[in-house]
Order: sequence, then C-alpha cells, then structure tokens
Amino acid sequence: MSAKIISGTETAKAIREELKVDVAALKKKHNLVPGLVTILVGENPASQSYVAAKNKTAHNLGIYSEQVTLPADTSEEDLLALVAQHNNDPKIHGILVQLPLPKHINEAKVLYAIDPGKDVDGFHPVNVGKMMLGEQCFLPCTPHGVLELLLRSGVETSGAEVVVVGRSNIVGKPVANLMLQKREGGNATVTLCHTRTRDMDFHTRRADILVVAAGVANMIKADQVKEGVVVIDVGVNRIGMSESGKAILAGDVEFDSVKEKAAAITPVPGGVGPMTITMLMKNTVQAARQSAGLE
Ligand code: NAP
Repeated sequence: MSAKIISGTETAKAIREELKVDVAALKKKHNLVPGLVTILVGENPASQSYVAAKNKTAHNLGIYSEQVTLPADTSEEDLLALVAQHNNDPKIHGILVQLPLPKHINEAKVLYAIDPGKDVDGFHPVNVGKMMLGEQCFLPCTPHGVLELLLRSGVETSGAEVVVVGRSNIVGKPVANLMLQKREGGNATVTLCHTRTRDMDFHTRRADILVVAAGVANMIKADQVKEGVVVIDVGVNRIGMSESGKAILAGDVEFDSVKEKAAAITPVPGGVGPMTITMLMKNTVQAARQSAGLE
C-alpha cells in the first residue's frame, strides 16, 4: 500500500481562496480591512523569511499588513511600548511578535502584553485558557493547521487513538488538547509522548493518527507505525544545502518508508508548513470581524 498524500499546499490554497472572498466581502459590506502587524527584533535569517512570507500572504489576500523591524539591541521597554501602540491602533486587528526574541527580552512578558483580542498567534494565556475550555478563541496557528488538514482530508478523529510526539507549548500540547475537545475534529483518545516516555514505540505502533512534532529529522521509521495509520509530520529540519544554496528540509518522519505502510501522510515540505501561515491569516480576519462585532 502507498499512502494518500495529504497536501498542505493544496489545502492551504483552498482556504486562502475562501479568505480572499471573506476579505473582499468585509471591505464591500462593512468597509473593514483586516490589519496585521508583524514585529521582528534582530536579524535571524529564518525569522526574516517567516515574517516576509506572512506579509506577502497577507498582501495577496487583501489584508493590510505592516512590518516593523527593530535592531537586535532594542530594549524590552521599547518593544512593550510598540506593542501597546498597536493594541490601541484601530486599523490593526492582529499583532504578531516573531519568536525567538533576543535573550535580554522576556518573551512571556511581551506576549502577555498583546491585547488577547489581537493575539492572532494564540499564545496569550487568555486564549490558551479558552482553548482548553473549548471556548471561542484564537487557536495557535500550527495546531489549528493540523486540525484543519485532518478535517478537510476527511480523517475521522472521533474515537481514534491519537498519539502526539512532542509536548511543546506551541505544537504538541495544543494539538493534544484540540484533539480531545468534545466537538468535530476532536473526541479522540490522546496520548502525548516526550523524551521521558518509557516505551515510545509501544504508543506510536498503536496510533490510528500519529502527529509528530519533535524536531528530530527522520526519527519515526516504518517499524514504529502500524498499517493504515494517518501521519501528520509537523517537523521541519534543515539537513543540508542544495547547490543553488537552498535549504534541504526533512520532516520528523522517514517519509519514503512510512508512506508504504500509512493510509495517509503529509510531506515535508508542503504539509503542515503552508497551513501555519494560512491559519494566521484566518485568525486575522476573525480578529477584524470580532472588532466590528460581527462574531
Ligand atoms: P520543541 O519546543 O523543541 O519541542 C520538541 C518536543 O519533542 C519536546 O517536547 C521534546 O520532549 C520532544 N522530543 C524531542 N526529541 C524526542 C525524542 N527523541 N523522543 C520523544 N520526544 C522527543 O519543538 P517545537 O517548537 O514543538 O517544534 C517541533 C518541530 O516542529 C520542529 O521541527 C519545528 O521546526 C517544527 N515546527 C513546524 C511548524 C510548521 O509550521 N510546520 C511550526 C512549529 C514547529 P521534551 O519535552 O521531553 O524535551
């Protein structure tokens, strides 16, 4: 058996088309243009390319976007003042502070300073708490993308044995939480694995749906999964450089061997990655609607 490939590129494209229509309708009916500001401190090349991709996508969808780039020695106080300024700017509905921040800045303090109503990354504790309670909130973009990929691929989560590898606050924990919520896309029986898990293979081998977010290239091999599993590979690992100077990427799952056993699998690149930015755009549109009392 060779798996169905779950294309994040195609799914993200479909969602972006829907968002384009939503954005145009908001403008026409309510004279409302969703606005996003991205704030980048320092010159981390990966962060620079993520922020550029976010602004380009926003622009393509008709979302107003501002990019603020600050020097690496920006003080915490100045960054907090900038966040406060955008909290009070009516044309900005979403604020994204690109992580990681330089070491001298307290990341939590900055994220907590963002108005929860503009926290389109879904990292503010108010949104994290609401997610946990199953209330309407901004869902963190990558876990939301994982959920949306499963839903739109017609994968049944209700009653499924879901195993998540990785327990970070931005991927593993929220994925696990979302998949056990009592609603569509949830209702799974969830196991969360990490480096202290005693026998990880025992868990991965009984997964109906396996979500891997460990950050270890090709860590999951074919003998660690069962026939017919659905695999969502969140990992993005740079394993080399092409002759043209482009990074060569690998997921956390050994794609070529695992796809022979799986029912469906996401590739890297072209899987979860494109979904993350798309969910950020979805949250920005949601934030604009909320600000106008439309949700
Ligand atoms: P992270 O903060 O480093 O967390 C990794 C988690 O995996 C930790 O909980 C760690 O366990 C666990 N882990 C690591 N090695 C393991 C092993 N050998 N066995 C079992 N568990 C192991 O990483 P992250 O931010 O969640 O990101 C994970 C991966 O997803 C990375 O490759 C990242 O680049 C990728 N990512 C992709 C997107 C996207 O849009 N596609 C977005 C975010 C992240 P402990 O807690 O015990 O240390």
